[in-house]
This record gives sequence, structure tokens and C-alpha cells, in this order.
Amino acid sequence: MGLVVLKFGGTSVGDVERIKNTANRILEEKKKGHKVVVVVSAMGKTTDQLVALSKELSSYPSKREMDMLLSTGEQVTIALLSMALAEKGHSAISFTGWQAGILTENIHSNARIIDIDPNKIKKYLAEEQIVIVAGFQGATENGEITTLGRGGSDTTAVALAAALAADKCIIYTDVTGVFTSDPRYIPGARKLEAISYDEMLELANLGAGVLHARAVEFAKNHQIPLEVCSSLVKESGTVIEEEIAVEKSLIVRGVAFEGAITRITVFGLKNGYNNLSSIFNKLARRNINVDIIIQNLTVGEDTYLSFSIKNDDLRETIDILEQYQEALGFDHFEYESDLAKVSIIGSGMISNPGVAAKMFDILAKNNIQIKMVSTSEIKVSTVIEENHMIEASRILHTAFELDSVGQKIK
Ligand code: ADP
Ligand code: ASP
Ligand code: MG
Repeated sequence: MGLVVLKFGGTSVGDVERIKNTANRILEEKKKGHKVVVVVSAMGKTTDQLVALSKELSSYPSKREMDMLLSTGEQVTIALLSMALAEKGHSAISFTGWQAGILTENIHSNARIIDIDPNKIKKYLAEEQIVIVAGFQGATENGEITTLGRGGSDTTAVALAAALAADKCIIYTDVTGVFTSDPRYIPGARKLEAISYDEMLELANLGAGVLHARAVEFAKNHQIPLEVCSSLVKESGTVIEEEIAVEKSLIVRGVAFEGAITRITVFGLKNGYNNLSSIFNKLARRNINVDIIIQNLTVGEDTYLSFSIKNDDLRETIDILEQYQEALGFDHFEYESDLAKVSIIGSGMISNPGVAAKMFDILAKNNIQIKMVSTSEIKVSTVIEENHMIEASRILHTAFELDSVGQKIK
């Protein structure tokens, strides 16, 4: 007997039949004698539809109102799932994020959870109720509704698992586990039986949407074993934990990709050091996430700087650069949109030199131009043109022997 947190994503609760199926999966866990907390996402593509609706009315809607709007999606699911469980004879109670005690920082559209008061949930668990919590949302100290960023229901689940000291956290989704790359686009992708927190964190941060990166961060920090599996197909999923046995031959364990990236280049930035920090401070204050940064070359006192952002942040970045051009003292800036980041990830890279060189070589041989590069101990990322993103990912997946037939990936 223990406490489990189960999370079901949008596809798993996409229609009435899927909600009934989810209710059955929950009852299977409950019958094992566990106390069960369930986190759910909005039904199917509801969040996308709500975003589209807002765009019909406003080109740049306020982030506060977007949170108000998008948080409704999850609220629909929690109530319906609670009804479905009641219909099957088990009492359940649903809570929105703020009702469940989820406190976030005061940032709209991408807030971090700063605290969870688990007492209310514990009270209902003690009464043997199934507690259902709306994913992806919380509230600030002032009672403002916030959301946690797209895909954030995973983070709600893991954060609740930490706050409740749960024995395990299972993420049910529409694939059977974490694969070597997105199986929707990379036909040779294979399911991994296990992956380390660090590798998963890189995969998630670099575009593998199967898990929200902050969920993995939470799981690592609180040492919560995570399992990703299918809500529809009954087979074992992928376990994410601290240490896993890595096959020696597998230096690269995954390929991740992400589109809609823009490269900004600032020319003739004077007096490098101070102005460099000034630019990035100004962007950070407006919550613009800068990813890869390259200080190209320094001629005399002028610095030439490139950095990448998401396409969605372009307009605000241009505003900031135009506003502070004089104060920062640069000559001009240019940007190139419709770029993509393709990355290879694997802890085996630490002890195997030459992986980055091999990646660049493969891309060059396939006439794919690399525009930016960034590396860490366990990943190499390249920025390329977006129209080559899937092709490059497939080529790299094959070249690093991730899709060789019959290969068993531990
Ligand atoms: P949910 O609604 O259940 O949270 P998501 O759409 O957020 O589901 O995440 C599941 C999707 O993640 C899969 O359908 C798959 O296309 C995508 N995905 C991307 N990278 C990977 C990967 N490495 N392994 C498995 N799935 C991946
Ligand atoms: N419904 C939200 C989204 O689509 C949160 C989630 O599904 O995790 O991004
Ligand atoms: Mg998701």
C-alpha cells in the first residue's frame, strides 16, 4: 500500500470513451490498495483551440487573460473524470490548482510552482477518496490564476508527488514510453526501457515534448522515480531515475528537435562586457528565454553577438533592441527566423571524444548548413534551417545507430 500520483494527458481524456478508460485505469491502481491522486490535462486539443479562439479576438492578448482562459480546459476534465469515477461507484473529488494548494510565482503563462500546501488533498485521501487535480495551473499569493507553460500538467503531477511524498508517479500518455526520438516523425525510433534524469532533462529541454522539462527537474531534485507509459496500450513503459545501466556501445541515446527558432545578430556592440550583460538582463526582465549565445568576433572594441530565441518572442525582442539601441551603443541588428535546433544526447559522450565532430561531418555530407552550435557534457545542439529539421534528425538517428534493426536498447 502506498500513495501514487497518476497523470493523464490530453489524448488520454480526449473524449467520453477515453475518460471512461482513464477511470478504469485509475480504479485498477485504487484496487491495489493505494491512495490515488490524479492529475489531468485539458481534453484533446482543447488548449490549442482556446489559443486559436483568443487569436481571433486579439493579436497580442494579455498573458493574465490567457491564463484565465487556458486554465478552464483542465477544469472541464477534472469534473467529468470525477463524475465518471462516481458512476463506477467510487467517490472522487476534483480540485483546481489553487484549491489543491498550488502556489506559483507571479508570472503569467510560464509560472514556476513555489510551494504546495498538501493538507487539503491529504484530508480527502484519508477518507479514501480519489483526489483529482487540474494540471498546468496554480495561483499566486494574490489569488491570480497562473499557468505553468505548455505541457505543464506533467510538472503539476511530479510536484504533487514530491509534496505528498508519493511512492511513485506515473505519466500516462499517447505513446508507450520515452523513445530515442519522437516516434511520430522518426520511423526508426525505439522505446527506451530506462533513461537517467540528466539525459531526460536534456531531451525535454531540447524539444522532446513527451515530458515537461520542469517535471524532470522536480523529479531529479526530489529523487522521485517516474514512469512514462501508455494509457491505451498495456505494456511496460520507460523508467526515469538517477542511475541506469548504459550499454557501452550507445554513446548517443536520443535525438531531439525543436522548430520555430530565430537567430538574432547584433553588430558593433561597443564596450563588450557591460553591454553584453545589459542586453541579456533586459531580455530576462521581460521573460524572454535566450538559448544559444555566441560572441562571434571582436574587432577592436566592437563585439558581434548572436543569440537564439523562440519565434514567439521575436516581436518583444525587436522592441527591446530598438528601445535600447542608443543606450547599448550597437550599430544595428539582423534576424533570421524559421530555424530549428537538432540535438543529440547521451551520457556516453563524456568519455567518448569526437561525437560532435561526427555530427558536424554527417550534416555537412548531407549539405545541411550549421548556423549555431552549443554543447554540454552530454549533448551537442546545432541550429539549422527548419525545412531540414526532420531530415537531419532522421539521418543522425540512423548514423548514431539508434534505429538499427534488432538492437535492444536498455
Ligand atoms: P500528453 O498530452 O499525454 O501530455 P504530449 O503530446 O505532451 O502528450 O506528449 C506525447 C508526445 O510526445 C508523443 O505523442 C510524441 O509525439 C512526442 N514525443 C516527442 N519526443 C518524444 C520521445 N523522445 N519519445 C516519445 N514521445 C515523444
Ligand atoms: N493543456 C496544457 C497544454 O496543452 C497542459 C498539458 O497538457 O500538460 O499544454
Ligand atoms: Mg504533455
